[in-house]
Amino acid sequence: MNLRIFSLTVSLLILLTGQGCTCRTDSLTSPPPDMAAPSYKADLVEIVKVIPDAKTDIRYATTNNFIGKKVYPDARAFLLRPPTDALIAVSAELREKGYGLIVYDAYRPWSVTLIFWNLTAPDKKQFVAIPCEGSVHNRGYAIDLGLYDLKTGKELEMPSDFDEMNEKAYPDYQGGTESSRRNRDLLRNVMESHGFTVHPCEWWHFNYKGWEKQPVMDAPFPK
Ligand SMILES: [Zn+2]
Repeated sequence: MNLRIFSLTVSLLILLTGQGCTCRTDSLTSPPPDMAAPSYKADLVEIVKVIPDAKTDIRYATTNNFIGKKVYPDARAFLLRPPTDALIAVSAELREKGYGLIVYDAYRPWSVTLIFWNLTAPDKKQFVAIPCEGSVHNRGYAIDLGLYDLKTGKELEMPSDFDEMNEKAYPDYQGGTESSRRNRDLLRNVMESHGFTVHPCEWWHFNYKGWEKQPVMDAPFPK
């Protein structure tokens, strides 16, 4: 099956079945059943406050993203405490090798996931979370990131750009340059040795273990 037919089939399955939605199946855009109450106090930690040499390139606070719209009020990135602690260990290990983290996105309010779903073409839906399930970003347990060289400050080459919606984004893609694949695999190996798991379609996206127990949140970024 070629890639285009494969992605069309996946999209069709998602649309027809809700991809195993455990929530209401009459609408894929309903809030998930485990949505936290607005009063839920999330311990969101701002990443640059605990990893001072982490850079941010928060594309969703700009129009440079796959929907071409600014959906975050501020270019800031947050995670809940357990993945933050693991990320501190990741950054220490990479710092010794001469690399720093560049964060594209982390905690994402649920209403932004809904915007993404509504603005994504049917044949690209496999790259976005289904609103009725919520995403791991909504739970404060997922991060999108790349690497930069601590000496030059330059971003490391990867097989695709962040949020590029094609097979180059797959973490097992064997095309591109050897150094881009080496950079991607280094990031994945260090992240996975600290409790994160890479997304099957996105080399830059990692979920932290235990995310299933966390409620979906729609709280705005902390002040
Ligand atoms: Zn992501």
